[in-house]
Amino acid sequence: MPTSLGPDVRSAGETELGELARLVREFSVERDWEQFHDPKSLILALVGEVGELAELFQWIPADEAVARFSAEGRRARAGEEVADVLIYLIRLADVLGLDLGAVTRAKLADSSRRFAVHEVHGRAPEKA
Ligand SMILES: [Mg+2]
Repeated sequence: MPTSLGPDVRSAGETELGELARLVREFSVERDWEQFHDPKSLILALVGEVGELAELFQWIPADEAVARFSAEGRRARAGEEVADVLIYLIRLADVLGLDLGAVTRAKLADSSRRFAVHEVHGRAPEKA
């Protein structure tokens, strides 16, 4: 059955990340591409997409990036690359059997404990 990529395709009880993982999985299955989706290959693809995103910002002064990417064309291009990164990250988590929402919430909770607001407010975290 072809993947339905329109709105309102989420199953009852399915999170948005769960839905995206299912859609990416279905996209891969339909094309018989799961055979290429070992973790190492997915990580390399993910890094490649991060590189494509970084290339958009290359040589743009940091303090001008937000303003320059508020232009519709540039914002759309950034969105395409951000989506590519997320798609590979979601696929990697799926192949590894990770619940991306759960591990992200756990990591954020850990970071909240490690970087108490009253200790780090307005200061960049220091590497120990
Ligand atoms: Mg790309």
